[in-house]
Amino acid sequence: MPLNIAMDGPVGAGKSSIADAVAARLGILHLDTGAMYRALGLKALREGLDPKDEKEMVALCGRLKLDVRIGRNGQTTLLDGEDVSGLIRTPEVSMAASTVSRYAEVRKRMVARQQELAAGQDMIVDGRDICTTVLPKAQLKIYLTASPEERARRRWAEMQEKGEGGSYEEVLSQVRERDRQDMGRSVEPLKPAEDAVIVDTTEMNFDQVVDTIAGMAGKVRNA
Ligand code: C5P
Repeated sequence: MPLNIAMDGPVGAGKSSIADAVAARLGILHLDTGAMYRALGLKALREGLDPKDEKEMVALCGRLKLDVRIGRNGQTTLLDGEDVSGLIRTPEVSMAASTVSRYAEVRKRMVARQQELAAGQDMIVDGRDICTTVLPKAQLKIYLTASPEERARRRWAEMQEKGEGGSYEEVLSQVRERDRQDMGRSVEPLKPAEDAVIVDTTEMNFDQVVDTIAGMAGKVRNA
């Protein structure tokens, strides 16, 4: 059976970069499922459609030409053949992704694609519903979290480094707003799976988190 590691957690917990590092350490692949909801959000914004319109979003998802390529050097997300891996990282797309991910039919389609991508491969998959819905049989389930203030602080520091504007307070309020949407939605709200190990990184640095998760994965792999 392939090694499957499922990782969920709120916005800004560092899931993607942690999963990248764990994947590199273990020599396995990493699937970032948020990129798929982001691609749908970007498509909606580009077509001038309202992400809050469920019917439109389900239809849009049906005609979405999305291609996700994962390799040892990371993930490339192609929308209608165009590499949008960078373009899906804006705050506008983040909010749109969070909105479109509320719809059951959208989730059903995305989950099916994610399960196809993960089938038969050693992989770490990160998202919001991976432990519970996408990979319920994963050998290791992690819920990666940190306080909202710490998650906002990390995101803000990243933006400062890139020379992007925006105050810490603005970032904190976006983190809270997306938490509210992700944890409060009626379809598969974000919450730790019963059998997930909660890793609270508020007081941990990046390497400590990677060591912790890679260590747990190593034990599962050798079991
Ligand atoms: O993880 P990331 O921030 O890239 O995800 C973007 C949005 O997609 C999240 O705010 C969340 O609402 C949604 N998402 C989801 N289920 C997943 C991955 C992401 O609902 N498995």
